[in-house]
Amino acid sequence: MSTKLHFYNTITRKKEEFIPANPPFVGMYVCGPTVYGDAHLGHARSAITFDIVFRYLKHLGFKVRYVRNITDVGHLENDADHGEDKVAKKARLEQLEPMEVVQYYKDRYHKDMDALNNNRPSIEPQASGHIIEQIAMTQKILDNGFAYVSNGSVYFDVEKYARSHHYGKLSGRKIEDLQSNTRDLDGQDEKRSSLDFALWKKASPEHIMRWPSPWSDGFPGWHIECSVMSSKYLGETFDIHGGGMDLLFPHHECEIAQSVGSNGEEPVRYWLHNNMITLNGQKMAKSLGNTIMLHQFFNGDHELLEQAYDPLTIRFFILQAHYRSTLDFGNEPLQAAQKGYTRLNNALAAARSLNLNWGSDSADTKNRIDGWETNLADAMNDDLNTALTIASLFDMASYINALKNNQEKLIPSKAEFDRVVSLFESYFEDVLGLGGAVVSDQSAQKLDDVMKVLLEIRSTAKSNKDYATSDAIRDQLKAIGVTVMDGKDGADWQFDA
Ligand code: ZN
Repeated sequence: MSTKLHFYNTITRKKEEFIPANPPFVGMYVCGPTVYGDAHLGHARSAITFDIVFRYLKHLGFKVRYVRNITDVGHLENDADHGEDKVAKKARLEQLEPMEVVQYYKDRYHKDMDALNNNRPSIEPQASGHIIEQIAMTQKILDNGFAYVSNGSVYFDVEKYARSHHYGKLSGRKIEDLQSNTRDLDGQDEKRSSLDFALWKKASPEHIMRWPSPWSDGFPGWHIECSVMSSKYLGETFDIHGGGMDLLFPHHECEIAQSVGSNGEEPVRYWLHNNMITLNGQKMAKSLGNTIMLHQFFNGDHELLEQAYDPLTIRFFILQAHYRSTLDFGNEPLQAAQKGYTRLNNALAAARSLNLNWGSDSADTKNRIDGWETNLADAMNDDLNTALTIASLFDMASYINALKNNQEKLIPSKAEFDRVVSLFESYFEDVLGLGGAVVSDQSAQKLDDVMKVLLEIRSTAKSNKDYATSDAIRDQLKAIGVTVMDGKDGADWQFDA
């Protein structure tokens, strides 16, 4: 089969046509959050990137099983093999059960991701619910000779694995460089080499998240959960694995080694990675004081923010860049995005209520619409170029506005214009997920009713020749970004772009 859809595959380092192993089914696994704090822009970009993959594959007619995990155990401080568990530390500081911390931040993560209009994954498995499977895979890797037990912990033997397999194939790192760049072990370390990573860790007496295993009372290493949960729900080899570029090494490199080390199979056919986000040109970091949480963007409650931003403005802004480019956030680009997004929303609203003396079908109009249809599909098929997709939507918005303002000579037939609207809706709402949620439907209806009342008062004032009142209403609305348009069927209004 041919799909025309091309992804940049991180492991082959080139764009390749996407051909699923078992069409129409597609399996996709994405590394989700470690739930010990609120979600920030990095979480938003990764979730939105793979929501687009999910939406577009469904748009193309595939049946997608999208699995995104919740890391609730085994992710230690500094992404290392020692130190406190991130969830357990939060629980200790807040005097809560670890699972209370997990539930709290999982709920908040969902709330933020829902606000960004991301679809929920098909399955959202938690690491702590798959301890038995993680012990079983660790045992298999031990049986195959690619791991060893040391003082109750189990470590993956990277150097031994690298003798028969390519460790570093995803990240492009060379084992010799990794060996020379790593610190010498101090003799006290349980590992044979500092390249080795934990599959199972023996818990220290104060460690509260622990389970029995053949080797010790302990907990799984960070990387093994993803190998286990992806193979459990998608099979030993599946189509797409996604995540942020920061996870490429060591996390995803280790996932490959674990899967190959346990069942001999390459786990993933297409590896997709989204790039990172900076804020005003700087990397975001707690130490720089510039980590802004998503809910702070939504309510404007941060000293670096000049205003609150609608979650869909954030989504639109993220989609204006290609997912493999870096993206710099700041007030100015966000305000520009807000204008652009409003323009597209207004165009769609105008298109839905447009009523003209429709013309008849013409080759010119047909070519024009065919052109947009091709451009929209080509852009998405070219490694999900959402920036170009949005550019085509702006073209269509200009056409809609020209028709509305009587600036377009060739009036389309009703059927032709319906095609424009459904094409616009299909990409703006279904594929890009940018539809409608500026205000909830209910408040949108209320707002419409309130505006009707206001415009009627203005119309009465006008018929009474009370122009001071009617002009004041128009001017004051203009000042808050609402334009009143007088037409032959009465007045209408819209938000300014
Ligand atoms: Zn993962």
